[in-house]
Amino acid sequence: MRKKIVAGNWKMNKTFQEAENLIIEIADELEEIELAAGNRAVILCPPFVYLELATDMAPDSFFSVGAQNMSDSDSGAFTGEISGPMLKSMEVEYCIIGHSERRKYFGENNELLARKVDASLSHDICPIFCCGELLPDREAGKHFDVVKQQLEESLFHLKKEDFEKLIIAYEPVWAIGTGVNATPEQAQEMHAFIRKLIAEKYGEDTASQTSILYGGSCNAKNAQSLFAQPDVDGGLIGGASLNSADFIKIINSF
Ligand code: PEP
Repeated sequence: MRKKIVAGNWKMNKTFQEAENLIIEIADELEEIELAAGNRAVILCPPFVYLELATDMAPDSFFSVGAQNMSDSDSGAFTGEISGPMLKSMEVEYCIIGHSERRKYFGENNELLARKVDASLSHDICPIFCCGELLPDREAGKHFDVVKQQLEESLFHLKKEDFEKLIIAYEPVWAIGTGVNATPEQAQEMHAFIRKLIAEKYGEDTASQTSILYGGSCNAKNAQSLFAQPDVDGGLIGGASLNSADFIKIINSF
């Protein structure tokens, strides 16, 4: 179901004590907010080693927990990897798949990401699938083609009922961690395009029910104008999710 969602991607940040403090601060603040009334959800995606801290607290709090990555295999000789069954056994409900940093530094391509999406869904973990173009793609006017290809090659093999379980995050790579966000108009244009592609493939009903988040230097100052766009259903937040006051302001930006 289409929801307004704010997800925090902590990336490789925070010590154990800092992570615990941040989770407690966010949980305390969320108690004050009427999330359910606005059909809103908050997802925290800390590093793997702090997932248990978060999932232990989640049942009594107004947030859910996501991982930042997972293997496409369920088990085996894959040193350093974390699998879907492991995440599921820790009550993790979401997983970011296809973040541009995974694509860039770990060579994850559309084909591998399709397998990760399948693995995630097969364990009833909701993928937060990231797509988005590089700056040269945008400058060359190829941003729509790039995003279309990412969706076609990693998601459009899914059956309608499986596709309807996932969340999409449009994250232009030039906006991630740069302080230069997409303008609300640029975000809306791409989100509308993504929704149109979904409608063509799976029908208007599926398209209208898919949550499409914006990510890329979204912060407490610009969230309101981005979230006001009709096809922007919230944000995937990196840097600004590491500070509870900023993160809460973003959650309150709907
Ligand atoms: C991200 O890493 O998904 C992200 C959007 O980062 P930032 O908000 O820091 O640009």
